[in-house]
Amino acid sequence: VLEIRDLHKSYGPLQVLKGVSIAARRGQVVSLIGSSGSGKSTLLRCCNLLEDSQSGDVLFEGEAVRWTGEGARRHPSDRAQVIRFRTNLAMVFQQFNLWSHMTILQNVMEAPVTVLGQPATEVEPRARALLAKVGIGDKADAWPAQLSGGQQQRAAIARALCMEPKALLFDEPTSALDPELQQEVVKVIKDLATEHRTMILVTHDMRLAADVSDHVVFLHQGRIEEEGPPERLFGAPQTERLKGFLAATM
Ligand code: ATP
Ligand code: MG
Repeated sequence: VLEIRDLHKSYGPLQVLKGVSIAARRGQVVSLIGSSGSGKSTLLRCCNLLEDSQSGDVLFEGEAVRWTGEGARRHPSDRAQVIRFRTNLAMVFQQFNLWSHMTILQNVMEAPVTVLGQPATEVEPRARALLAKVGIGDKADAWPAQLSGGQQQRAAIARALCMEPKALLFDEPTSALDPELQQEVVKVIKDLATEHRTMILVTHDMRLAADVSDHVVFLHQGRIEEEGPPERLFGAPQTERLKGFLAATM
């Protein structure tokens, strides 16, 4: 579904991604782990073109992003293509980013109605079903501020799903939550993995990564230091850096 080839990305003089390649096939869950500043969020944001990059390819369902310009001046050239990528690769952030002036139901319905132009009468039953699926069917008419962090994050996941994306991108979806609330969100992510949703998951929760991933990528200073199936990465890490990282985080 999604492929990144030899991606390089800098912020001014700071090289953040130094030739990273990843791929998520249909139904696969790929987790990105690594210390703070290793480039995980940047890589995720490059996947759905929230960030530009200086070289390398981004492909969605085999279709490569078309660029104009070179290096620091490289940008996607086809606006319609960017919108297609973004609507098919829905992102869930650490800070849920719900619109505070809209009810939970309105939050979930907003993008399908305004971006995809779907009729509200068609979107509403789907939105309600998704809220029920993530366990907050009774919160449709509440305001975001009236929900716990775990409920807000589940609403954000329902909002992403309501776009009917081809893949979900999660950036530390549980990091802003108290431990007991994390489990509610972990359960939703595990359910999505069981349904064989395509997902790329940035997480500090090694247990979650071990439980849901088909493939785990360990980033270190903008490079892939080690990658493989979770059993091998967590059970028999090869590099000293990954061993040290796991010892510090688990
Ligand atoms: P964390 O685990 O803390 O979320 P991360 O692996 O997600 O870290 P990134 O957010 O991708 O790391 O950041 C990688 C590097 O890029 C860091 O050194 C960061 O300071 C830098 N960086 C990120 N965003 C910007 C930006 N908009 N402008 C300049 N530098 C940035
Ligand atoms: Mg990050």
